[in-house]
Amino acid sequence: MRRLYVTRDLHRALLLRQALENHGIACAILGEHSSFGASAFGGLLERRLEVWVIDAEAAKEAERVIEALFAERPEEAASPTGWTCPGCGERIEAAFTACRRCGRERA
Ligand SMILES: [Zn+2]
Repeated sequence: MRRLYVTRDLHRALLLRQALENHGIACAILGEHSSFGASAFGGLLERRLEVWVIDAEAAKEAERVIEALFAERPEEAASPTGWTCPGCGERIEAAFTACRRCGRERA
C-alpha cells in the first residue's frame, strides 16, 4: 500500500479511484466512511480522505493517471499552492504527498 493523494473532497477522491480502476490499478480510499474516519483520523471535523494504491509498484503509473486526469479536467485539480521538494527542487501540486521526480515524502 502506498499513499498517493490526500484531499477533503469526496467527489475528487471518488473521481481518482474511478480513473485508477479504469487503468486497472487497485486502490482504496481511507476515511471514506465517517465511522472509520472518526476512529482513524480524528473525527468528522478533520475529515481527510486518502487515496492509496494497493500495489506500491503501481504508484508511478497511478501518479501519471492522476496527472493526465487533471490535465484533462483542470477544474478538478487541487489548488495551485503546491510545495517544493527539499530533495530535488521539483514543484509539486499541493495534494500530492510525495515528489513525483525523486519520491521523497513531503516534510
Ligand atoms: Zn524530489
